[in-house]
Amino acid sequence: MKDLTYKISSYPSTRNLNRREVDEEIRRALDVWSEFTDLTFTQKTRGRVHIDIRFEEGEHGDGDPFDGQGGTLAHAFFPVFGGDAHFDDDESWTKGTFRGQNKSCQYSNCCEKYITKFCLSLGTNLLQTAAHEFGHSLGLSHSDSRSALMAPFYRGFQNKVTLNKDDINGIQVGQVALSALIVSCFYEKLCPFTCTATLRRENEEAPS
Ligand code: ZN
Ligand code: ZN
Repeated sequence: MKDLTYKISSYPSTRNLNRREVDEEIRRALDVWSEFTDLTFTQKTRGRVHIDIRFEEGEHGDGDPFDGQGGTLAHAFFPVFGGDAHFDDDESWTKGTFRGQNKSCQYSNCCEKYITKFCLSLGTNLLQTAAHEFGHSLGLSHSDSRSALMAPFYRGFQNKVTLNKDDINGIQVGQVALSALIVSCFYEKLCPFTCTATLRRENEEAPS
């Protein structure tokens, strides 16, 4: 039995999730892996930990800047590079749904019509993404199997995260020791729908 510690150093700024929900989803994402290993995970709120989890936007100090909404959703480091996992704070992180709300939305206090039209965006499910990233944190690289959690693309919303045979072999064969590269994870988002263009035009028209 090996106990690993983790800490959520910064939380997402999305309106979709509160801190407790983020804690729960991260916990569930780690449980996906502890189910098939003798690893356990303990959350800490301070001090040094094995896996440091952050929600960051743009350049955030590790030379691998995030790219705004869509595109890259997250990346994680292999164990030899610390195992930390970073999530793009410009994504609309969600729990149990594909429906998200743009954090830059200016209409949330306005009428329902505008919320629907301009502010709903295709959310990115935190549980799915986090479970995938923690696979990297534990030493797994990408899988060629399309049904694997470790396949290198975001598959759209799924209500439940399951490991396939490839994932389970990966974690059990102990790729941890073999992995010696920093992994940058390039998930491709399917059909991103945002209201960026509309919001930008509104900003430009606003009197300065
Ligand atoms: Zn990073
Ligand atoms: Zn990946």
